[in-house]
Amino acid sequence: MSRHPAIQWGMLCLMVFPLGTGSASAHVGKPAAFSSLPSPAHQYGLPFASRPGPDTWLMGQFYGNTTFAYEQRRSLYGNGQGVHFGLDFSAPCGTPVVAIAEGVVSEVDGPHGSAPHNLVIDHPDGLSSLYGHLLKKAAVKVGQRVRRGEVVALSGDSQETCVSEPHLHLEIRDRSHQLLLNPVGYLRADWASLGLVDPDMDGAGFQQDLRQPGIWQSPEDQPDVRLHGPLLNNFAQPWPPPAPGTPVRK
Ligand SMILES: [Zn+2]
Repeated sequence: MSRHPAIQWGMLCLMVFPLGTGSASAHVGKPAAFSSLPSPAHQYGLPFASRPGPDTWLMGQFYGNTTFAYEQRRSLYGNGQGVHFGLDFSAPCGTPVVAIAEGVVSEVDGPHGSAPHNLVIDHPDGLSSLYGHLLKKAAVKVGQRVRRGEVVALSGDSQETCVSEPHLHLEIRDRSHQLLLNPVGYLRADWASLGLVDPDMDGAGFQQDLRQPGIWQSPEDQPDVRLHGPLLNNFAQPWPPPAPGTPVRK
């Protein structure tokens, strides 16, 4: 077990679609082609001003083909092609969350899940960041301009207890909110060091397919996601093997 109070074996990241009402600007339009979106160049900052550590925040679950997401690819993560389409940072409830880049607040408790509260900021480069499982409704307003590093919200718990799964879920989306990108390439951080704290409660990190060994096995090398697209990880020979009684394929 981790000494970090926020890291527990049962840590989940619940994505519920759709969720909430609240104030939200319209996000419509067709998704852009992945190739037309800004390339990852570590151009954004982390969503916390504090340094990582056992008393502040640590990695919870990476984006992508995690074993945790694989096990729930047909349920919790079914809308996201079976992978975890954000980054989870374990942090005590009430940890100040900062904007990863300058931008304009486009949604406060909008329809994009990550209960109980979420926030979306549109950035000038055409991408948006979503901050999920917030403790309470963010104190910023739709249309408000925010600076990089400005406190915009407080982290919460997807189970709303502050003792079960306290973490921040962070996504990078296109403006259509249909395409999700791996934040690891966009955020400047020492991912290798952050990953030293075993971020996956199952211990294995990323799910393997023994028929295609090596695919999607590092924080940097993970697939882009198109919401409601087909499963990406319908693996023929998964490892770790599925729990007893779980059908491998349907
Ligand atoms: Zn998450």
